[in-house]
Amino acid sequence: MSKAYLPPIGMLAELTHRCPLQCAYCSNPLELLKANREMSTAEWLALFEQAADLGVLQVHLSGGEPTLRPDLELIIAGLSRRGVYSNLITAGVGIAEGRFQKMADAGLDHVQLSFQGAHAATTEKIGNHRGAHEKKVETALAARRAGLPLTINAPMHRHNMDEVGDFIDLALSLGAERLEIANVQYAGWALLNRNALMPDRDAVERQVRIVEEAQARLYGIMTIDFVTPDYFAIYPKPCMGGWARDAFMVAPDGTVLPCHAAGTIPSLTFPRFGEGEGRSSLSEIWHDAPAFNAFRGTDWMLEPCRSCDRQEIDWGGCRCQAMALAGNAAATDPACVKSPLHARMAGLIDEAMTAHAAGTDSFRYRRIGAIGS
Ligand code: SF4
Ligand code: SF4
Repeated sequence: MSKAYLPPIGMLAELTHRCPLQCAYCSNPLELLKANREMSTAEWLALFEQAADLGVLQVHLSGGEPTLRPDLELIIAGLSRRGVYSNLITAGVGIAEGRFQKMADAGLDHVQLSFQGAHAATTEKIGNHRGAHEKKVETALAARRAGLPLTINAPMHRHNMDEVGDFIDLALSLGAERLEIANVQYAGWALLNRNALMPDRDAVERQVRIVEEAQARLYGIMTIDFVTPDYFAIYPKPCMGGWARDAFMVAPDGTVLPCHAAGTIPSLTFPRFGEGEGRSSLSEIWHDAPAFNAFRGTDWMLEPCRSCDRQEIDWGGCRCQAMALAGNAAATDPACVKSPLHARMAGLIDEAMTAHAAGTDSFRYRRIGAIGS
């Protein structure tokens, strides 16, 4: 008999990989799926029914750009019927007038809108999309007019780190309840572009001082969540709160994974949701899929995690980062000072600075078909 695990609380639904922007730090996989690989409305609705049955309380509707799905209101309504909290994560470009009111009427609970820069030139450069900044400002105002709570996402790296104070002012001016300042995680396209994105240590220290001062000053006015950069850390983050512990994600074609970068671990095979040959129910996947059980809990840990008193604080860090930097997904995350590879993180920062000084650190913009099939 299979072992039963606590139910998941959250789910990230990547409805599509299509996106009008081409951010060089995008967390999507390098081999992006075309529209003809996306699940249908009926398949997504069936998946959300099973997610609600399994215990999921909140679904983050993401992508790519989720508003490119014309059935988004139907999907939101399906979640609302089951009392599941829905959060739209959007790039905020090209959204038709009135769409936010329709999504609010369908039961949308919250909007998270990303800005690539605090200024128009930066947003255009990072997303490779002319006029993106002005469109995002209009999107923020449209979301507020529809009465939706708003979080501004600011993914941080070398090219916008000195705008951190302006990001705070921008979020305040847009009436956001929350600002998430998140240093990019080097997975997906960000790993490919690491040399072009890596900030220097002085910039990171300036950023920390500005954010901490603003967190204190704006207490009770706007919440500022801060995701610090792994490469400058002493201990890793509890990636996803622990592997397959309380959340999972679903790719546009229905592949179910413990996190968005898990597909980079070659020893694991990830199941597809649905009916028919090779497909499984969400409950079967959550409880029984070997890929979900591979790094659950602490039994899989090697030293130094195996005997460490922080093992249920950070769960050994990120399995995908361990794969990328140590070549072994079961290794201690090299972001940890106890990892024998920790010094490699500092070496990679130096490598990025050298490439920057030599001018060999140009972006590879994210777009479907740029890499792989
Ligand atoms: S990070 Fe940029 S390219 Fe990737 S989905 Fe978000 S807006 Fe689109
Ligand atoms: S050794 Fe492992 S459990 Fe301990 S702090 Fe480092 S990553 Fe976390």
